[in-house]
Amino acid sequence: MARESAIPRFGHKPQVAFFDFACCEGCQLSVLQLEERLLEILEHVDVVTWREAMTEQSSEYDIAFCEGSITTEEDVERIKDIRAEAAVLVTLGSCASTSCHNELKNQWSMDEVLDVVYGDDAGQIHTIASRPISAVVEVDYQTFGCPVSLPEFVKVVSAILTGQSYEPPNEPVCVECKRNDYLCVYEKGEVCLGPVTRCGCDAICTGWGDACQGCRGLMDSANIGAMLKALTREEAHSIMRTVIDRHQLTEGEIAAKLRIYNNWPEFTLEEAETDDD
Ligand code: SF4
Ligand code: SF4
Ligand code: SF4
Repeated sequence: MARESAIPRFGHKPQVAFFDFACCEGCQLSVLQLEERLLEILEHVDVVTWREAMTEQSSEYDIAFCEGSITTEEDVERIKDIRAEAAVLVTLGSCASTSCHNELKNQWSMDEVLDVVYGDDAGQIHTIASRPISAVVEVDYQTFGCPVSLPEFVKVVSAILTGQSYEPPNEPVCVECKRNDYLCVYEKGEVCLGPVTRCGCDAICTGWGDACQGCRGLMDSANIGAMLKALTREEAHSIMRTVIDRHQLTEGEIAAKLRIYNNWPEFTLEEAETDDD
């Protein structure tokens, strides 16, 4: 999802910075776990700022990898400053690309959230509705996953260094699951969000026999209505009958599962901003 402006080809070894906003910093940690692959990448870039990995810092960089969601007015100003400096801005993982778990708080007004979490000290804390980085500044590349899908991270780095764009895949995880010939977890009676979740992780969870929890966010054309019907209807295929009987999920419970990682489709940023007022 590159900006329309030309993607730069660097005439020098590009300088890279990592930044974090509201998140657990697990995506940065995952990148460090690339180990030998990371050493290969470091032959092509100079990392000048990475708080999780080094003490040196620089205010000059070409490529900014930004992790985490925007949840304060200070975050808004800081990401604008980073955008102004970076020739290329990449969102690292789902907190940055979709707002991920942080958007759970947007279901309530910010006053309610502060009151529940901080009680008598709520007045000392300032927060705004959580939003992905692309809601504040233009983003050149996006990576998804909680934590970030490392094969996708490597693809994006390669695309940047060769001046290519990168379009995130927009198919369900089921496509990768079937491509790998994995057993569908519905056949084990479990609920899986793979049919509505953006693929690109090579179905890593279903490959281990676990259900997809939807961490890469909804794909653009996710048919939530069909998913709700499939999980609640009275007439169902025998496999779905077993799932329905075992879990007896209400529409509200299915929606709650989807909300763990997703900007619920009925939610709009405008509504959240109204709540801020
Ligand atoms: S996407 Fe997940 S792993 Fe990455 S920073 Fe957010 S919560 Fe942590
Ligand atoms: S396990 Fe999940 S992702 Fe895989 S085919 Fe079944 S529903 Fe789709
Ligand atoms: S299978 Fe689902 S939960 Fe697991 S990494 Fe992929 S998108 Fe995330």
